[in-house]
Amino acid sequence: MERLIWDEYCLTGTAKYLLDDPYRAGKTGLFARGCDARAINRLIQDGQVKRENIVIIGICCTGMSDSVSGQMAAKCCDCTHPTPVVYDLMIGEPVKPVAKPERFKAVAELEQKAAQEKSEYWTRQFAKCIRCYACRNICPACNCRECFADQYRVGWLGKQHHTAENLVFGLTRAYHIADRCIECGECARVCPVGIPLMELNRKLIKDIQQLFGDYHAGVDSETAPPLGRYSLDDMEEFM
Ligand code: SF4
Ligand code: SF4
Repeated sequence: MERLIWDEYCLTGTAKYLLDDPYRAGKTGLFARGCDARAINRLIQDGQVKRENIVIIGICCTGMSDSVSGQMAAKCCDCTHPTPVVYDLMIGEPVKPVAKPERFKAVAELEQKAAQEKSEYWTRQFAKCIRCYACRNICPACNCRECFADQYRVGWLGKQHHTAENLVFGLTRAYHIADRCIECGECARVCPVGIPLMELNRKLIKDIQQLFGDYHAGVDSETAPPLGRYSLDDMEEFM
């Protein structure tokens, strides 16, 4: 415990560490801020971990800092749930959830552009991708035991490093996590080439909220994600 350092620069999400040793006997203790707690719910709901095997030390979060600029980290500026939604012990004073509709500003601006412009924008972005998979590896919603990106059989994702395959990777990943992204912003934070991945994720979140109503992934572990349930009242424009 003497070696544990926890300061305002500890930006990395903690929940994904639970998958490092999924068959570990006994309980695992984990520190969790609001985003980490939603990520834990994500993993519980996806059947990756059991709640009874985790001891969650919740930390009421006031935001973390970017180690380069010293300013509040981008992901924290857009945070809606800084207080852990699941915990066993809690440290600090709870902070109420905030709506932050402005986090969809970049998406709304992009939606105003013509289809060709949007296509060029994302092509430019994914031309930079080096397929390091850091975005996938840090993401608590990317928790498949075998990712489509690691398939070697023909017909899955090609291994060539070029824009078309990069786009297939980026867009498929966005769709895979469409109704399960907990908006921790870790993918965009770790991308070494600065692709604004949260713009893609938030486009899907915005559309899902318009089609299925207000839904925030990982806020609890009981409410099924909208794309994982069927209702006769579902809107049909997308079918
Ligand atoms: S995203 Fe929210 S809960 Fe997570 S570190 Fe930033 S302010 Fe804290
Ligand atoms: S982190 Fe960025 S560069 Fe790496 S695979 Fe993801 S999008 Fe591509």
